[in-house]
Amino acid sequence: MSIKITEECINCGACESECPNRAIYEGGKMWRMSDGTSLKKGKNKELEMDPTIPKNPKEQEIYFVVSEKCTECVGFYDEPQCAIICPVNCCILDKNHFETKEDLFQKKKFLHGE
Ligand code: SF4
Ligand code: SF4
Repeated sequence: MSIKITEECINCGACESECPNRAIYEGGKMWRMSDGTSLKKGKNKELEMDPTIPKNPKEQEIYFVVSEKCTECVGFYDEPQCAIICPVNCCILDKNHFETKEDLFQKKKFLHGE
């Protein structure tokens, strides 16, 4: 499952640098699959697009998680680092993006090529 950030977010920014997949962005910012991953310029077969192309923000007023990049920190840490550091506990599991542990491992491999 991916993590999502709820409307309780106070925009403190503490979570952004904790994410090993660079899956967290400030509201209003463009995001890329290639940010913080080893995905390279050029059409990616799995994504069917160039991962360096900027995508529109998922939120404007609060920080957001890109579910396509979030692995619940699987492959790096035992627990979601954003949820640990968030001072208002607004990083929660996103039930709309269910993934098994194995799915998350595969996603990590896809993002980082290892
Ligand atoms: Fe990033 Fe981990 Fe939080 Fe997902 S759970 S957004 S990978 S810090
Ligand atoms: Fe928002 Fe929590 Fe991240 Fe701070 S740590 S920006 S409150 S989600």
